[in-house]
Amino acid sequence: MKTISHWIDGRVVESTSGRSAVVFNPATGEQSASVDLASSAEVDAAVASAKAAFPEWRATSLSRRAEVMFRMRELVDANRKEIASLVTAEHGKVLSDAMGEVARGLENIEFACGIPQLIKGDYSEQAAGGVDVYSIRQPLGVVAGITPFNFPAMVPMWMFANALACGNTFVLKPSEKDPSVALFLAELLAQAGLPAGCFNVVQGDKVAVDAILGHDDIAAVSFVGSTPIAKYIYETGTANGKRVQALGGAKNHMLVLADADVDMAADAAVGAGYGSAGERCMAISVVLAADSIADDLVAKIAERIPSIKVGPGNEPDNEMGPLITAEHRDKVMGYVNNAPEEGATLVVDGRAGVPSEGYFLNPTLLDNVTPDMACYRDEIFGPVLSVMRVAGYQDGIDTINSNPYANGTAIFTRDGGAARQFQFDVQVGMVGINVPVPVPVSYYSFGGWKSSLFGDTHMYGPEGVNFYTQGKVITSRWPDPATSSVDLGFPETR
Ligand code: NAD
Repeated sequence: MKTISHWIDGRVVESTSGRSAVVFNPATGEQSASVDLASSAEVDAAVASAKAAFPEWRATSLSRRAEVMFRMRELVDANRKEIASLVTAEHGKVLSDAMGEVARGLENIEFACGIPQLIKGDYSEQAAGGVDVYSIRQPLGVVAGITPFNFPAMVPMWMFANALACGNTFVLKPSEKDPSVALFLAELLAQAGLPAGCFNVVQGDKVAVDAILGHDDIAAVSFVGSTPIAKYIYETGTANGKRVQALGGAKNHMLVLADADVDMAADAAVGAGYGSAGERCMAISVVLAADSIADDLVAKIAERIPSIKVGPGNEPDNEMGPLITAEHRDKVMGYVNNAPEEGATLVVDGRAGVPSEGYFLNPTLLDNVTPDMACYRDEIFGPVLSVMRVAGYQDGIDTINSNPYANGTAIFTRDGGAARQFQFDVQVGMVGINVPVPVPVSYYSFGGWKSSLFGDTHMYGPEGVNFYTQGKVITSRWPDPATSSVDLGFPETR
């Protein structure tokens, strides 16, 4: 049985913690590997390596750091299929979806190749007589990333590309459910010429996370995962003096107005609701359908569902794979079991016809969902799409803005004025206009509002560069004997 271990100081390091977890193939339910779970001493070793590597890496020229990113870009590009296969084997998502994940992750490495341009400061000549003022951005030191199971390739790339390009060294704690990709990326970074110690991987669970949060030598923590853990990470990390960005869970609404193209909206709802088996933080979970088109929209969504090919992710024709674990599949199924008792209409029952092995649940469609139901209140994170009927725009926007989550949302309409009003009114971090999964491109930044984000900074893009650097402002004067005098007054500029 394969054992997946840590990557510390430029090589695989076997664990001595004596603790491990099982890694499953979600398409079969069989164990595929065992992953070591780090002790706090192993986290210490990774941090010590990152700390030792930091002075030389931060002193490395911008062009050289960019060169490592350019090489990493080529290596990830050349290994797209290999990375995607690792994702599919442990996460379960279909290969085409995993390829999409790698492609979107790669964009972040491409963005980081531009670091000499991204990290420029400002300069003000003659801020006072003979005095110039300028700003620079410097790396923080050792920074850590803690990542979720649902994007084992892309989310680490959201973090380490900018962090490393800015001159930091990095410790990654991936999800213990699909840990292999992190090690593969570590090997690629080494091949790209990143010096040993600049990038480390500690496999683990809460023990490793708590060791990171309490470690004096870690300056900042980036986290992506569920809301309760995001809140914990933010509160604990900031109480320990760290800079923290912690992205949490989601409940994304898609508002379909009466004038929308209903076929286009149905296509979008099916893709965004059931893609990756609903295990995306940007998945559409709730369709808010204007009353006058709701019956038509529900019928069109329902008629598309039987043609979705569900099965193991490594079979090329399949469009939707299994859920991550048996436990999670049972939790998702629990919402489907309860929904009719709470008054929802089960239009398409995904419990029917699931394969006996693996953690599958077929696409499920609920109608007449109301805000008090558990299937609406909670993040389900599975292939369950809920339709809630709304009177129109105002009812829809009030529903979205009343929800505690605020990661992504979308409006479907042909009315440009309504779309513009939506972008003005909606209290959500990422908004799609006739685009159901509006994940920002890498030169913007990713993040929600309210319970979907703890901290002030969104992830990757320009905000990522700011997160991984700290500003310094220098006021300088070159000696000029002609203007030198003792002056005890407060420095003035006029
Ligand atoms: P999770 O919160 O269970 O785990 C995330 C990370 O935290 C993992 O590395 C895990 O090992 C660690 N962790 C888990 N329990 C912990 C604990 N008690 N103490 C300390 N650390 C702990 O999330 P998940 O199930 O891996 O991922 C799915 C969740 O992530 C969903 O809620 C989804 O919406 C969210 N997510 C959000 C975004 C976003 O950008 N907002 C992106 C992807 C996923």
